[in-house]
Amino acid sequence: MPTDFSATRALFDLPEGVIYLDGNSLGPLPRAVPARLQKAVVDEWGQMLITGWNKAGWMDLPTRLGDRIARLIGAEPGHVVLGDTLSIKVYQALASSLEMNPKRRVILSDTGNFPSDLYMAEGLCRTLGPDYTLKTVAPEEVLDAIDDSVAVLMITEVDYRTGRRHDMAALTAKAHAAGALAVWDLAHSAGATDVKVAEGGADFAVGCTYKYLNSGPGGPAFIYVAPRHAEVARPALSGWLGHEAPFAFDLNYRPGAGIERMRVGTPPVLQMVALDAALDVWEGVEIADLRARSIELCEAFIQGVEVACPGLELATPRDPALRGSQVSFRHPEGYAVMQALIARGVIGDFRAPDILRFGFTPLYIGLEEVEGAVRILAEILATNAWDRPEFKTRAKVT
Ligand SMILES: *Cc1c(COP(=O)(O)O)cnc(C)c1O
Repeated sequence: MPTDFSATRALFDLPEGVIYLDGNSLGPLPRAVPARLQKAVVDEWGQMLITGWNKAGWMDLPTRLGDRIARLIGAEPGHVVLGDTLSIKVYQALASSLEMNPKRRVILSDTGNFPSDLYMAEGLCRTLGPDYTLKTVAPEEVLDAIDDSVAVLMITEVDYRTGRRHDMAALTAKAHAAGALAVWDLAHSAGATDVKVAEGGADFAVGCTYKYLNSGPGGPAFIYVAPRHAEVARPALSGWLGHEAPFAFDLNYRPGAGIERMRVGTPPVLQMVALDAALDVWEGVEIADLRARSIELCEAFIQGVEVACPGLELATPRDPALRGSQVSFRHPEGYAVMQALIARGVIGDFRAPDILRFGFTPLYIGLEEVEGAVRILAEILATNAWDRPEFKTRAKVT
């Protein structure tokens, strides 16, 4: 049965009068979340106290939710686990990869990657020693830069600024042929595109859940380890919940079975409960339908803006196959333009130096919102409504 996006849309609570095009930064509130959180707080934490770890199944949430996310990213069930933040998961995947490729010292990434991924790689190199390096090249040059010095390729599939999408299968195949491993960051692809980690050959994949998966601010990240590495990868962050027998309280670390070893410490239960409720929205959503709908929305937005807003320059690839589910335009006063849009109820975001970014999330955005956003953006540009001091003062979070 084709996915019914009007049904998924009814499962969200969005404020009146708002066109929300920032689900790529923070997904909106699914209607089922408050009651589920209330139940977890009052009936589970309140009444069960510590017995909730067993009785309410809190301890199994990281792997149970991992299986739910596996379907959305084309992973084998039993090979995804939740916990920590994405930056931590990037570190884990890189550290294990470097240990599995001990003769090599180079992490290869690109300048379009999200800075936190690059910072985590730098920090890891510093810890491992002076001969470890992070090398970054332009996104277009990654394929040619893969050679037999590279230990691990670390790529974010969809560029957070431009929406440009890398070819996972092609880059991974080249990495493998050169004797390197491939770590994929799915922050802007999980729940947004037709990700296929197993088919694409990824060795590790990581991602967050508070963007397109709608788990709420501070929701946990996930990590995937390919089945062929599940019993080989050694966790650098060897916390007690990744131990083979956490409650044996052994003095020495032994990695847990398979993906369990990528757990670190106590899971954020309330955040995971929110995610569990948020993932119910995905029941009945076919990823191929999501991708088709996302392309339709992005195409309509690009066409509308190019007709109505001559001052904007498209920063996203024109070919739908080469982009994720966001569209970006450049404008020299991008920050002020975005603030003026937000004041009119169209919420996107701004990424330095000049990018206006709009996320298209088929679960709750339709062509009506696309048209509304184009109309308001065109008005703001035509009247220079953005050119006011209050739209030029930068807030802490952009
Ligand atoms: C959003 C995002 C992050 C954020 O990491 P956190 O640790 O969850 O704050 C990291 N990497 C990429 C590629 C992102 O898009």
